[in-house]
Amino acid sequence: MTTTKAYAAQTDHSPLTPWTVERRDPKPHDVQIEILFCGVCHSDLHFARNEWGMTVFPVVPGHEIVGRVTAVGAHVKKFKAGDLAAIGCLVDSCRECDNCKEGLEQYCAQGGVFTYGGMERDGSGPTYGGYSKMILAHEDFVLRISDKLDLAATAPLLCAGITTYSPLRHWKIGPGMKVGILGLGGLGHMGVKFAVSMGAEVTMLSHSPSKEKDAQRLGAHKFVLTSDEAQAKSVTGYFDFILDTVSAQHDYNFYLGMLKTNGTMVCVGVPPAPTPVHSMSLIFGRKSLGGSLIGGLPETQEMLDYCAEHNIVSDIELIRMDEINEAYERMLKGDVRYRFVIDMSSL
Ligand code: NAP
Ligand code: ZN
Ligand code: ZN
Repeated sequence: MTTTKAYAAQTDHSPLTPWTVERRDPKPHDVQIEILFCGVCHSDLHFARNEWGMTVFPVVPGHEIVGRVTAVGAHVKKFKAGDLAAIGCLVDSCRECDNCKEGLEQYCAQGGVFTYGGMERDGSGPTYGGYSKMILAHEDFVLRISDKLDLAATAPLLCAGITTYSPLRHWKIGPGMKVGILGLGGLGHMGVKFAVSMGAEVTMLSHSPSKEKDAQRLGAHKFVLTSDEAQAKSVTGYFDFILDTVSAQHDYNFYLGMLKTNGTMVCVGVPPAPTPVHSMSLIFGRKSLGGSLIGGLPETQEMLDYCAEHNIVSDIELIRMDEINEAYERMLKGDVRYRFVIDMSSL
């Protein structure tokens, strides 16, 4: 066992404070990583405050992890000490079920092991995430990253990146399609970058007037202020596809009205409480409402390689570890341009 410094929430109403995590010694297939940067996802906040009612405390959040390999087990082939490496939202899965065999480990029939708040498959204890100095995982769940991209700005690709890339690929977004990205935060800004790079016409759907310029800078072709009745009405029946990244309560029916016939809206944002959907919102126009969870390991690697090829990273604000509680408050106010990343040298 090795102890490593971390930040944890001890209860659903306590701030994150310094804590010590015990990590196992590397097993034959393990890759051990010194964490250099870790992105701050809104899911970290939902989890630290137990907004989904499933948190086991203490919790060490963080699943946008990049760093340098410090040690590898005897059987590891993909990595050696000194390599750059990354870990996203998953650290293990059964590898035997149909979903795992297809590279959809996030939908593992036995339940994938999440990077934090999960339970190790050997029962050895809970998993603790990337708000820490060191982590290890089986090499199958460790990803390669390019040294051409800014390392800190690469971290958010591990969740915000794959969570938006995966549904855009699955629903075959490309030239000729009108795509709305709902919510300009960590996920939303990556959604805009990816959808634009895939050749779609992209509209930013935001409730923040102050974000219009940024949406343009990120490549969005149009901006619709959703709280402005006339602007919202102008996109009635307009989109082939909407990617909903909003973290707070909102009315799905309102946005389903913006889809054209046969259009699809996919939720990736997870508001704390369920939202009613009227069947009429779907029946008129043969519309679909779907969802998507992060992405599997092969697709996450594909996304990282795509980003290296297309020079895509996240727009970040680098923070110190002891600024995390303030960052959470700012994230709740929508005051993040567009992802906080923790510089782990500050821990
Ligand atoms: P974020 O950076 O905080 O962005 C959320 C955005 O939602 C805000 O920037 C804001 O955009 C919009 N928003 C916030 N409050 C709103 C309100 N009251 N009404 C309307 N819009 C509001 O969060 P994130 O890290 O991108 O995460 C977004 C959501 O996705 C979270 O619920 C997170 O847990 C979830 N998530 C899901 C997956 C998955 O696999 N499905 C993976 C990662 C995260 P505007 O200011 O532009 O309106
Ligand atoms: Zn996340
Ligand atoms: Zn499985």
